[in-house]
Amino acid sequence: MRKPFRFHPLLVICLLGAAVVPAALVAQRGGNGVQIGPDEACPPGMTEVRPEQCRAPEFDPPSIVDYRPESTLVTPEHLVPSAKFPVVDVHGHAQGLAQPGTIDGMIPDLDALNVQVYVAADNLTGARLTQTLEAIAASPYPDRFRVLAGIDFRDMSPGWGERAAREVEAAIQAGAIGVGEVSKSFGLTLTKPDGSRLRVDDPELDPVWETLGRLGVPAFIHTAEPPEFFEPLDYTNERWLELALFPDRRNYGPDHVTFEELMTERDNVFRRHPETQFIAAHFGWHANDLGRAARMLDEFPNVSFEVGAILYDLGRQPRAVHDFFVRYQDRILFGKDSYQPSEYPYYWRVFETTDEYFDYYRDYHAFWKLYGAGLPDEVLRKLYYENALRLFPGLPRTGFPD
Ligand SMILES: [Zn+2]
Repeated sequence: MRKPFRFHPLLVICLLGAAVVPAALVAQRGGNGVQIGPDEACPPGMTEVRPEQCRAPEFDPPSIVDYRPESTLVTPEHLVPSAKFPVVDVHGHAQGLAQPGTIDGMIPDLDALNVQVYVAADNLTGARLTQTLEAIAASPYPDRFRVLAGIDFRDMSPGWGERAAREVEAAIQAGAIGVGEVSKSFGLTLTKPDGSRLRVDDPELDPVWETLGRLGVPAFIHTAEPPEFFEPLDYTNERWLELALFPDRRNYGPDHVTFEELMTERDNVFRRHPETQFIAAHFGWHANDLGRAARMLDEFPNVSFEVGAILYDLGRQPRAVHDFFVRYQDRILFGKDSYQPSEYPYYWRVFETTDEYFDYYRDYHAFWKLYGAGLPDEVLRKLYYENALRLFPGLPRTGFPD
């Protein structure tokens, strides 16, 4: 005859632990639990295991660089090594295109990725610009590369804005297809001869923006940094790891220009030069706030966005991104920024598939996974090449569908 099952007192405690353990009991069991008030956060080293009850792990928790959980989610995977349509990368930093072998060496990777035209956005001026234009023209691939001209910020003696405008015009006549990338140092760190910060909306540069409008070529401009870089480096900062890794990305401090000041100055330029086309690099740093991004495009018909290095924000909101890219399909261009051939397919996958919960390529940018937005073909074509061909009259037309 079977003995009737009886709860052992210790088992009762275990079962209770799975449901709700009074804080007093937790504390009794080894002193690793505390109770908190309704609006309180757990103390450092603890996590909320039940409402208002915090507990410390029994083992030393790993640091954020050592915690590497492997996802157990099984879901369809569609890797996209090659973009569905030919791509213009308007944000190229391959560096050294003029060096022998660089162009030849890039072609197999660009072919595999389906990047048809690579635009060097290295703010090139003077001899470096001339050498790069010549290297492209002399290569077997003259239709695969284009160059943006730079603005020379080195000599800000009186009249430098007018001089810069004349240099830009000469560069466009020599074969550059626009200006850029106007560096983030413009606004952040560049100073005028009197030591003051060079504001993005300094009227000295008006002749440059006006010249570009008259010539009908765009300015590709990078202003500021992600908003988190202007916030205190504490444990609530979403980019804590990146800021801890790279001291030069910390833009928070007394007397430091703020993110909003830079956005205001940038928008002043957009507003003051409605005949000039501007491409705001990195989605204008508004990819984390698509409502704000939409208001900006609505306010400035002369502004477009570029998607370089903000995939971590696009890939965590695939439904909103889908709708935004459909609505503003004429206003977004593809750009990659840093030249790493292995990283482009992550962009293709976010844009083209509806895959879920997949890894991003750079842990320090994002502690989360990416999701595909499944953009329609019509939108992909515009994002990948049609918008670039429209905004940059100097891009080659060969290699694209009619
Ligand atoms: Zn760049």
